[in-house]
Amino acid sequence: MAEKQRTVAEVVTLSGKGLHSGKQVNLVIKPAGENYGYRFQRVDLEGQPVIRALAENVVSTARGTTLQENGGQVMTIEHLCAALQGVGVDNTHIEIDGPEVPIMDGSSKYFIQGLKAAGTVEQLEDRNYFSVTEKVVYREDNGVEVSIEPADSYSIDVHIDFNSKVLGKQQARLGSLSDFETEISSCKTFVFLHELEFLAQNNLIKGGDVDNALIIVDRPMSQEQLDRLSQLFHKPKIEVLPEGYLNNTERTFENEPARHKLLDIVGDLALAGVHLKGKVVANKPGHHANTELAKKIRQLITNHK
Ligand SMILES: [Zn+2]
Repeated sequence: MAEKQRTVAEVVTLSGKGLHSGKQVNLVIKPAGENYGYRFQRVDLEGQPVIRALAENVVSTARGTTLQENGGQVMTIEHLCAALQGVGVDNTHIEIDGPEVPIMDGSSKYFIQGLKAAGTVEQLEDRNYFSVTEKVVYREDNGVEVSIEPADSYSIDVHIDFNSKVLGKQQARLGSLSDFETEISSCKTFVFLHELEFLAQNNLIKGGDVDNALIIVDRPMSQEQLDRLSQLFHKPKIEVLPEGYLNNTERTFENEPARHKLLDIVGDLALAGVHLKGKVVANKPGHHANTELAKKIRQLITNHK
């Protein structure tokens, strides 16, 4: 029997700070009817524009995926969209009173918690699927390649290589969305320390504390530099662990960075707007490559209609 579409059983409310803006934002995740998909509504803007979570609405992929439609934008949608996929929600209307989905702890954990507490309900219509019949590939010259090929079910394989002593080659795999919660959802985003210092100094990162990312230190640090970081991050004692990560937050999995890249893929490919049947293979993925693949899939879906 075909699977049915699902929506949230009751309203879910969440709040937190945006990573880029540092602004406190409230999310209200509401039930929606069949074939609605995921839509955001900027209730803080005049006219309260609605922005559909579809690949053709992606306008930026710099440090997160940004959507724009009807004169409204919403940033950093990927960890929330991944959580919606993970709990099997097809349709929801999300009110947001700021420009950016809150970063929470840098993973999908708190979105999953909220969604699971509310639960989901089955709807009348069958779930919409796109079954891949021919391999679809997005490729760049620098070794970046994200593809989806025919398979009976949805799976994702990720390979990363940052060519760094601390973060070299890693891989992660998700065999089924039903494993998303336990295997992937709590994996935090990561950043190299030199990037973070730059972002902080240029006011590009204001989420506040440093609990929402794994921080990778791939060069020697003097005590003076560490003390400066302690100040910058408002943390009493910052040190580098032997594995090369800062002691700001805990790492659950040895290959957590690769798992987080997989989390991002789940969220970005949700912008295809339907469930996918196919095997995704990603080498050195990022939001740009992920959403370019989602755009190609969207074109195939639209042409089929
Ligand atoms: Zn991410």
